[in-house]
Amino acid sequence: MENEKLSLPQYDIPEDIQNAVAITTLDRLYNWGRRSSVWPLMFGLACCAIEMIAAQAGRYDMARFGMEVMRPTPRQADMMLVSGTVTKKMVPAIIRLYNQMPEPKYVVAMGACASGGGPFKEGYNVVAGIDKFLPVDVYIPGCPPTPQALIAGMIKLQEKIDKQSIKKAPWYNKKVKEDVNFVPVPVLGPDLMDPRRYEEIKAAAAAKEGA
Ligand code: SF4
Repeated sequence: MENEKLSLPQYDIPEDIQNAVAITTLDRLYNWGRRSSVWPLMFGLACCAIEMIAAQAGRYDMARFGMEVMRPTPRQADMMLVSGTVTKKMVPAIIRLYNQMPEPKYVVAMGACASGGGPFKEGYNVVAGIDKFLPVDVYIPGCPPTPQALIAGMIKLQEKIDKQSIKKAPWYNKKVKEDVNFVPVPVLGPDLMDPRRYEEIKAAAAAKEGA
């Protein structure tokens, strides 16, 4: 990053040393390091993945954003790019991979399928959006989104990273504990109900039966 982008404009630096000195905050430096090296997990689920591959190739070149190092292991990845139709058979594997990624980690839903089920919504074997299972940071619309749209989504993710603060980041908050061993088992059939509310729905159904 050039000096002028790293520096905070509210600090006046004498003109003659502006090329040599930058005054910034720890948050800005920390976020700059993370936003410039978001390594995606290397996997694709359906047709959207072809556009993701195109975005990585020479013409669009995600290396310009520090996102070209696609990792074959979740333990070295920062970002899960869910590119394609999420079937119920794949959900447990996707959640397991997400749980194995170290913090800080981000999820991007690429395309109509990953964002809400797409053309297969309410199909017996398709999840109506990965956000029912994972915390999605950025949604990219389209069927499929073009590589340009994917890159726009990546820039949005970078803007989101820019706004984070070490003090408030959830991964340093020891009070927030995730059950990393939890893997949901989706129920086959149309997602007419929100799977996040299954327990609530089951309790309401049991109460009705008992009444
Ligand atoms: S959104 Fe369209 S292009 Fe992407 S995986 Fe679904 S059907 Fe394929």
